[in-house]
Amino acid sequence: MNSSDSKATSRPSGVAEMLIGHPVNKNKVLSKRVVLTGDREVLVTENGRMCFLDCLRLLPRVAGRIEVRIPDGLGDLEGEVRALIASVWRIDVLEMGRYQEGIQKDVQVILSVGFCSRQDLPWVTVNSNGWIARVATHGEGLSKDTSQANPVGALMAASMGVAEVFKLIYEVPSNVAPPVTKGEFSLYDFSTSPSDPGPSLPEHVTLPDTLLVGAGAIGNGVALLLSQFNLSGRLHIIDKQDYGTENFGTCALLDGDDWIGSSKANCLANWLRAGSALQVSAEQGLIDSVRSGLSVKSMNVDLVLNGLDEVPARHDAQLLWPSVLIDGGINAIGAGVVTHRLDHPEGACLRCTFSVPSRDEKVIQSKVTGLSRLSLDSDLGRPLTVADIESAEESRRPWLRAKLAEGKTLCATITAAQSELGLGIEIEEGFRPSAPFVATASAALMIGEMLKALIYPEAEFVQSFQLANLFLGPSSAVASLRNPDPACECVTHRDLVMDLAAKRRKRSGGHICDEWMHDV
Ligand SMILES: [Zn+2]
Repeated sequence: MNSSDSKATSRPSGVAEMLIGHPVNKNKVLSKRVVLTGDREVLVTENGRMCFLDCLRLLPRVAGRIEVRIPDGLGDLEGEVRALIASVWRIDVLEMGRYQEGIQKDVQVILSVGFCSRQDLPWVTVNSNGWIARVATHGEGLSKDTSQANPVGALMAASMGVAEVFKLIYEVPSNVAPPVTKGEFSLYDFSTSPSDPGPSLPEHVTLPDTLLVGAGAIGNGVALLLSQFNLSGRLHIIDKQDYGTENFGTCALLDGDDWIGSSKANCLANWLRAGSALQVSAEQGLIDSVRSGLSVKSMNVDLVLNGLDEVPARHDAQLLWPSVLIDGGINAIGAGVVTHRLDHPEGACLRCTFSVPSRDEKVIQSKVTGLSRLSLDSDLGRPLTVADIESAEESRRPWLRAKLAEGKTLCATITAAQSELGLGIEIEEGFRPSAPFVATASAALMIGEMLKALIYPEAEFVQSFQLANLFLGPSSAVASLRNPDPACECVTHRDLVMDLAAKRRKRSGGHICDEWMHDV
């Protein structure tokens, strides 16, 4: 592996190191043989097709040797699979194999988009039906009913499945993240034992004028999903950065070197334009300045989708005061979504949900772990030592001793402290360990909330939802409602905000909000 490849896989590797508590042996991990396969009954459905192609976009970013085996006679799907194999970015080997050969014992992991699995092999099975995503391991089977097409459920199933594969190839200990033997999750009502697949989708949806703010890993997942719906409307994509090599490991649509060094917003807009009926435009810049620029001013923006990794940009995006603002968020292990809707004033806006973090991340790390600045200024990938504990804050020493006994690195200790304190989606500055399937899980949650806001206003409003640890599966689901801060503009300026929204609606010819069109 050369240094460029190493950079490309650095973020997912960082997640693995956090989970296993020591450096990853990349040669060993990436030499493992993974088979991506499926059952015909599921692959012939639209959900099976989407889920399989989603897996094929995610898996080559975390596994090194992948063989794809699908049954004969799947027609168009086989062509799509071959085309994607030819174009998708991969760490090392990605090739078509023969379905008939059967799975031999020398295969280290099997990911199947289907319904049956085998107990004698490290086998992960996923599928979806409507809003329900399903995952099973250890010989557990899944329902065969995958008839109600919904790209959101399919992408969540793929995300959960690749998370299970990740645990197997990186050998994450079961005391850190035991296998999800059987999990189901509805993105409609967030139930982990859903009784029905939720409402079926209309054939066509017209979006209000929409901004996608952030074209990184979450933005890639959002664009992938938008391409899987029959949508029309205007979408403007904003991002301040260019793609870099490190994004290969986390961005589901980043396939070629031609995107490296180019505007994230432009690349993603070009990709989506080619695969969607949406009118897509792009702009490179900070949301704070783009917000008052000509492009945004020429639109009646009433829906904002955020895929951001910093609080100030979230605060700036909120100042557009759209009828619906959906904010995806990730950390190394968890995916979340925060929604602000003008028709639900009981929920906090982004400005009173997220407080601007201290500029100095080390201060926070020191506060949560008790470790001294001297320890935190050293290499965070090294194991915790007795000297670290002696220089740490006294009240945290017993907890740190337990981490020492577990052989944790400094990095893993910080993560453990943050997750035990329930800080959830607290974003760190600088190097961010990150996994592509966590970002796509966040994107699935976002587009689910978008559909609920646009098409199913009767669905229960959830201001904040997290799959706090994707490696624990649906059982880590946490929904919450944060009420607004009475001193925040969302409360003090509500009349003005509602007035502006009504005018915006009028300008766009009653095309938005209560008349969002969905031609069933
Ligand atoms: Zn607020």
